[in-house]
This record gives sequence, C-alpha cells and structure tokens, in this order.
Amino acid sequence: MTSKKDVYDQLNRPLRDLRISVTDRCNFRCTYCMPAELFGPDYPFLKKDELLSFEEIERLTKIFVQSLGVKKIRITGGEPLMRSNLPDLLSKISSIDGIEDIAMTTNGSLLPKYAKTLKEAGLHRVSISLDSLNDDVFGRINGKGVSVQTVLDGIDAAHEAGLLVKINMVVKRGMNEDEIIPMAKFFREKGHILRFIEFMDVGNTNKWRFDDVYPKKQIIQDIHEVMPLEPIDPNYTGEVASRYRYKNSEVEIGVISSVSDAFCSTCNRARISAKGTLYTCLFASNGHDLRTPIRANDTDEQLSSLLETIWFHRTDQYSVERSDVTIKKHKIEMSHIGG
Ligand code: SAM
Ligand code: SF4
Ligand code: SF4
Repeated sequence: MTSKKDVYDQLNRPLRDLRISVTDRCNFRCTYCMPAELFGPDYPFLKKDELLSFEEIERLTKIFVQSLGVKKIRITGGEPLMRSNLPDLLSKISSIDGIEDIAMTTNGSLLPKYAKTLKEAGLHRVSISLDSLNDDVFGRINGKGVSVQTVLDGIDAAHEAGLLVKINMVVKRGMNEDEIIPMAKFFREKGHILRFIEFMDVGNTNKWRFDDVYPKKQIIQDIHEVMPLEPIDPNYTGEVASRYRYKNSEVEIGVISSVSDAFCSTCNRARISAKGTLYTCLFASNGHDLRTPIRANDTDEQLSSLLETIWFHRTDQYSVERSDVTIKKHKIEMSHIGG
C-alpha cells in the first residue's frame, strides 16, 4: 500500500469523505428520485456481476483511507439494505484502520430487521429519510403507499440498537412544505436531529424546476416563527448542513441548501456508484470507471495513483454554476450515485 497523503483538487479542497452506493435498486419509488413511471418493472437495473463485490469495495475503501486521506465513509444506494448480506460489508469496512466515522443513508423500512446486526458489524450512524408524518402525503411521495409507522419503527430500531440517528426530510414546494412544522415538533420532542434538504436537480428524471425549491431561508423562517432558533457553528470544515438549535434547548436541526446557498467551496466528497464508477460531484455527467482497472488486476499503487490524479484535476462546483443551461445537461441519477 502506498503511504498516506492529503490530495488537494484544483480549488484546494482535500478528499475526506467517500460515499459508496451498494445497489441501484430500491423498495420505494420516491417521486423526486425514482419516479414509478420511469423506474417500472422493465427498468434495466444492474445485474449482480455488474455490481462491485464486497471485496472490491473493501479494497477501494482501504486505498481511499490509507493512501488518500479519506476519514468518513457513508453507505448509500438505491436502498442500501436491499443489498444482500450488507452487514458483512460493514464488518469489512469497520476493520480498516484510519476510518473515523461510518454512516449509512436509508429509507428505514428494513432497519427493524437489520439495525442490531449493523451496529454489531461496526456501523456508527444512520440518516433515515422521512418526508412527512401524514400517511397520505408520505404514501404518495414514496410511490408505494408505505406507511409513516414503517419508517418510525425503523427509527426506533436504530436508536434502540445504539446507532446515532438523524432524520432527512426533502422539502419540495407543493409536495410537503406544510409538513415542516409537524416534523420539526415531532423530532424535537423525540430528540433526533432533523435535516431539511432542498429539492435538488440530481439526474434528469425528476422534472426539477427552480420554482419547486423551498429555500433554506424560508424553512428557517417558518420554524423560527413557531419555535425560535439560533444558529450554531459547523462541527467541522465541509459539513453540508447549516446548523440551528431551538432556543433554550439542546436539540438541533440542519438545512442542506445545495440550491439556495451552495457549499461547493468546502466540498470534500467523492462518490462511487454501485457499478464502481467514481464521481467527484453529485451532479456529474461523467465518472471514472474503477471496476475495469480493479478487475484487470491493477496494483494498489496503480489504483491509488489513478485516484490521486482524478482528485487533483477536479474542478467541480456545480451548485455555484447552476443555471438554466446546466440543469438540462445529462446527469447521473440519484439512485445510482446515492446522495
Ligand atoms: N434510499 C436511501 C434513502 O432514501 O435514504 C438512500 C439513498 S437516497 C438517494 C439518499 C438521500 O437523497 C435521501 O435522503 C433522499 O431523500 C435524498 N434525495 C433523493 N433525491 C433527491 C432530490 N432530488 N433532491 C434532494 N434530495 C434527494
Ligand atoms: Fe429509494 Fe431513497 Fe430514492 Fe426514495 S430517495 S426512491 S428511498 S433511493
Ligand atoms: Fe460538491 Fe458538486 Fe455538491 Fe458542489 S455541487 S457541493 S462540488 S457535490
């Protein structure tokens, strides 16, 4: 293995955070991510041998951590818990020296089954997605009529298993902005950090429009009128959420404002899709195929040098440059890259 070094891109950003998508499949069909009319029974999902194997993911992760300065790993998808034997991957990853944080983003539906095993395998944290507390609204958003209680059971299972829990709520104008206050009250009571995510133009299938974005400023104003908030400092450089605390309370919320308030200048994240393509931006059109060199038996040194070169040449700052022109370009879908 080559020795550890910090790699900086063309905007002087180091590489710290690696997000790994383990499947492009999902048991939900969220309208803003995998609209049911496009991701139907005939959708060409990846076949098993097209996915990176756990051994290939482990090998790449080791190189990212031990040679390129990555400290945080996030497992995502599609729905990561749809990948068979996922705890085995967590066991492999958690035994790699040098990782400070291992997290997963999930829709929560399978957590009652897996939370305990995931915790035992070394997972630290979960971000669980829930966009409404109203069954009709949530059932429509997730495209499968899944109940709110299903996700709440997942949240409880994760908490009881000892995993740190955050809740992710995508806010889209006309879809669920009325749910901001009920969600804020509910999770303030429960003591879980709720993070609001502006609806983003990831991929080309979710019919994104600027007008559908319910911006950070509005979200904060809505909550502040009911439950006064005060801003708090980021935990670390590159944290994506702007943090706020309810006054006279320890409970906090966050807002991820990729559209209204870009945070590209500190973006230290790389993403690997389920088939092993590396993307240096969530809104990228093209990635770098890592599966071919891995399966061609390239050495760790060769792979490390390839990754270093890719990061060195990185200039991405899509959210700073977003315009009527950029939103029309071909972009990788969220279910492939994983958020
Ligand atoms: N299936 C898992 C889940 O839903 O948590 C993990 C993958 S999902 C693609 C990751 C995160 O991206 C989720 O919190 C989801 O709500 C969010 N997301 C998906 N499409 C989005 C969009 N167009 N804009 C903003 N967030 C989005
Ligand atoms: Fe599935 Fe997550 Fe996308 Fe919803 S947001 S369709 S749960 S991958
Ligand atoms: Fe990072 Fe791209 Fe998002 Fe900017 S738009 S914060 S570069 S992923």
